[in-house]
Amino acid sequence: MKIANQNILISGASIAGPTLAFWLAKYGFNVTVVERSKALRLGGQNLDVRDAGRAIAQMMGIEKEILAANTGEIGLQFVNKDNEVEAAFPREGTNSFTSEAEILRGDLVNILYKHTKDNVKYVFGKYITGINQQEDSVNVTFSDGETQVFDLLIAADGVRSTTRQILFGDEPKVKFTGLYNAWYTIPKATTDTKWARWYTAVGSRVMLIRPDNHGTTRASFSFLSEDKGYQNLSSSEQKAILKGKLLGAGWEVDRLMEEIDKNEDVYFDGISQIHAPKWFNGRAGIIGDAAYCPTPLTGMGTTLAIVGAYLLAGELSRHDKHEDAFKAYEERMRPFVEKVQQLPPGVPWLAHPKTKLGVSLVNTVAGIVASNFVKKISKLFSGKEKESTAHGIELPDFKNS
Ligand SMILES: Cc1cc2nc3c(=O)[nH]c(=O)nc-3n(C[C@H](O)[C@H](O)[C@H](O)COP(=O)(O)OP(=O)(O)OC[C@H]3O[C@@H](n4cnc5c(N)ncnc54)[C@H](O)[C@@H]3O)c2cc1C
Repeated sequence: MKIANQNILISGASIAGPTLAFWLAKYGFNVTVVERSKALRLGGQNLDVRDAGRAIAQMMGIEKEILAANTGEIGLQFVNKDNEVEAAFPREGTNSFTSEAEILRGDLVNILYKHTKDNVKYVFGKYITGINQQEDSVNVTFSDGETQVFDLLIAADGVRSTTRQILFGDEPKVKFTGLYNAWYTIPKATTDTKWARWYTAVGSRVMLIRPDNHGTTRASFSFLSEDKGYQNLSSSEQKAILKGKLLGAGWEVDRLMEEIDKNEDVYFDGISQIHAPKWFNGRAGIIGDAAYCPTPLTGMGTTLAIVGAYLLAGELSRHDKHEDAFKAYEERMRPFVEKVQQLPPGVPWLAHPKTKLGVSLVNTVAGIVASNFVKKISKLFSGKEKESTAHGIELPDFKNS
């Protein structure tokens, strides 16, 4: 039987794109994924696959692989400038920052790619520069000048999606949280253990070093700032900004500064939410961070991306008209997104104190391991604060409906 809207183009090969491709291919669609980078982008720290996201991973048959790719992190320590532990939150504890399914972003991207590459056409090193919609098709122009015709187009190309810009202009709002974050991989040092180590420096700066399962270490550096558009700068300009911000922060800052120059995939961005009043325009739409990034502060970005992909593919499989599928999907997904996007009060300012006094509040008070204040911070940053409230979304069994 011929499927309506057989040929689907997806833009972006990270989490949302390949998950959507997985399910669409399973339902019999012809799927092409175009990725701007020359190869999969495998950088970043840990991602959390939880709640509904975990349930979908199970349905995809990849849950075991996700668990097997565990980073091995045994918990989180708050450390001071001398690397002395002020507070510790073991993985098994009730307020743990580390979850059971702790996986590196790159490992998850690789798993999704491995499970789709035989049924989906991947094209790397290209991106969409023009979209011309007809009654029954979408004509797409790519960065190399090629044009191609598809039945539908879904952009899953992240928080800075240029495809979203082509489709919706400035209508979707990019809400900056006041926090910049850089993630990059560094060589393992003797101070690196199986614990994640969190260091708070004056000037609203936080460094978070986490173990990985690749023999390296994952570094994150975040700082509060007004919106400076740093994400639009060249890689060398970004590195200069980061080194300037790190200067004088203490602890293991020399190492973090030194490694920035050597690193080819420093992911540096203003942490922003995307609020888009419309997710679809004719035969094209947006999903994942491109449509509804909740920020890593919620710990739910990956789960939203996976859930959105599952639901959209499912609705497309059971509706002949794309408009009906898009509507049904949005009815399910929007309330969930709105719930997840609510940041708890105090995020991200609470965990990024400006002054020495603020730092000592985080560190000295953290000396009392049971401190509710520190528990609160660690919960906020791991998104655990949301866990009890945000997992509720129905996942229909589309295969049997
Ligand atoms: C390199 C990198 C590192 C990250 N590190 C972390 C981290 O450490 N912690 C964390 O919580 N989140 C991190 N994130 C964000 C996290 O992956 C997402 O929040 C979440 O998983 C949702 O994924 P997504 O597929 O919607 O978007 P993203 O993961 O942002 O993926 C978007 C994909 O689209 C590609 N792309 C961008 N523009 C275009 C275009 N015009 N055409 C085609 N392809 C395009 C990108 O290269 C990328 O592969 C990172 C993202 C990236 C890209």
